[in-house]
Amino acid sequence: MWYLFELIFYVLIITTLIILYKVKKLSGLKKYIIIVSAIFALALGITFALEKPIVSVTDSISYEVKTHENLDIVQAYYHFLNVSDKVQINGEVDFNKVGNYKVEYVIPTLFGNYTKEQTIEIVDTTAPVITLEGNEIEKISYNKEYEEAGYAVTDNSDEDLYDNVTVTKEEVNEKEYKLIYTVEDSSHNVSTAERTVELIDEVAPVIKLKGDSTIYIKLNDKYTEQGATANDEIDGELTDAIKTSGKVDTSKEGKYKITYTVKDSSENEAKKTRTIVVYDESKPSVTPNTNPSSETGVIYLTFDDGPSSSITPKILDILKAKGVKATFFILNYSAANEKLVKREINEGHTVGIHGYSHTYSEIYTSVDAYMNNITKLRDKIKKSTGYDTIYTRFPGGSSNTVSRNYCKGIMTVLTKEVVARGYKYFDWNVSSGDAGDVKTSQAVYNNVTKGLKHNRANMVLMHDFSGNTKTLNALSDIIDYGLKNGYTFSSINSSTPMIKHGVNN
Ligand code: ZN
Repeated sequence: MWYLFELIFYVLIITTLIILYKVKKLSGLKKYIIIVSAIFALALGITFALEKPIVSVTDSISYEVKTHENLDIVQAYYHFLNVSDKVQINGEVDFNKVGNYKVEYVIPTLFGNYTKEQTIEIVDTTAPVITLEGNEIEKISYNKEYEEAGYAVTDNSDEDLYDNVTVTKEEVNEKEYKLIYTVEDSSHNVSTAERTVELIDEVAPVIKLKGDSTIYIKLNDKYTEQGATANDEIDGELTDAIKTSGKVDTSKEGKYKITYTVKDSSENEAKKTRTIVVYDESKPSVTPNTNPSSETGVIYLTFDDGPSSSITPKILDILKAKGVKATFFILNYSAANEKLVKREINEGHTVGIHGYSHTYSEIYTSVDAYMNNITKLRDKIKKSTGYDTIYTRFPGGSSNTVSRNYCKGIMTVLTKEVVARGYKYFDWNVSSGDAGDVKTSQAVYNNVTKGLKHNRANMVLMHDFSGNTKTLNALSDIIDYGLKNGYTFSSINSSTPMIKHGVNN
C-alpha cells in the first residue's frame, strides 16, 4: 500500500513529461489545455511527494507524577494512511519523578524520516493529606493540656513529611481553641487539617463543712445544723446551691449521717457527709469485745500538755461517747480552763501532774525546782477541784537528755526522789509522735496502732495541746481499733504498772 503512493507520484511525473513532449505537435487551444493539465499534474505530484505526516503530538504535555506508566498512543497519518504503528519514540521519561523530559517521534517518509519533538513535564500538583487520629472535636478538662492524639501524612511524591508538620494553636474563645496542622511538600503544595479542642469542666466543686465532721451529742440534746460552704473553680461560690439531706433524732441513740451535695453548672457533683453520734451518757456506747479466743491487753491513753479550750473538750466528747477512760497529764491552767480539769475528773478520767511549768531551763535546774514545780500544780488542783493526785509524768520523759544542760545527773536523782515522796511517774511505750514530726491523723493512727501489743500495759503518749487536731481526729478510730482487737481501755490507777524509760542523765 505504502508503495502505491510512490507509484502514483512517479506515474504523475512521467505522465507530465510525456504530455510536455507530445504537446509540440499540437496547436491552438488544445495545446494550452494540455500544458495547463501537465503543469497541474506536476504540481500535484510534487505537493504529494513533499507532504509531511500528520502527527497528534503537541509541543509539550504535562502528566501528574505517578499517575502514568507510558506516553499516550500517537496517531499518525501519511498520505491518507494511518501509520501510527510505524512511529518510533526516542527518549526516556520517568513518570515517578517530577521533571522535564524530551522525546522524539520519528515517522519514515518518502524522503527520509520526519521527526517531531515533544517536552514531557512530570508535575506534582497534589497536596499532601493529613489524617488526624483521635477525634476532630476533642473534649478535655479545662485544667489539662491537650495531649496530641497523633496524625499521619501521606503524599503522592514525597516520602516522609511527618516531621514537616507544624501545629499552631488558635484561640476561638475561652472554652475552645483550634489546632491547625500544616504541611508543605517539595512541590510547594500546602495542606492543612484542623482539630477543635473544647474545654469542659470535669472538676467537682469542693464542699467544706462548718464545724467538725463528727459531732457527739448527748441523748436529748439539741442538734444544730452548722452547714457547709461550696466553691467551684469555674462557677465560683456555690454555697447556696448545697442540698442537705438526712435527719438526726437526738431522742434515739445512734449514728446519723447528714449529706451535703452540690452540682456545678457542668453537672459535676460533690458530696460530703457529717456523722452525728447521739450517745447515752449513762452507758458506754461500744460493745466490749466478746470474742473468747482473743488476746488481752490494756491501753492507757494519756494526753499531755493540756488542757486547751480547742481540743480538750472534743477529746472528752469522744471518750464519753466511746465509754473510754483516759489520763490527762496537765500543766498549769487558766481560770477559764478550770472547768475542763473539773470535767476530766467528773467524767472518770485520771488527772496527773505534768508540771506547773513545762520550761526545761526552769524545772530541771535543781531537785528542789522540780519538786516545787509539781507540788505547786498538785496544790492548785486540790484547791480548785478537791482532787488529789500522785501520778506524774516528767516533761520530756525520764529518759530526757535536755536536763543535762541545766543540771548534770538530775534525772537519776529525780526518778528516785519522786517515788520516795510518794509519787508515781509514768513514761510511755507507745508514741503517737503528735508532738514531733507527725503531720496527719492517719500517721497518728498508724503510729499508735502499730505500737500496741497484746498481753501488756500499753502506755500511749498523745497530747491535747491547742490545735492538735491530728490526734483529735484519729482518736475515735484508735479506740475502735483497740476494741475490735481485744484490748481494754483504762485510766491510770493504783494497780497500773509504772512504765519507765532508761535514765540518760
Ligand atoms: Zn509535755
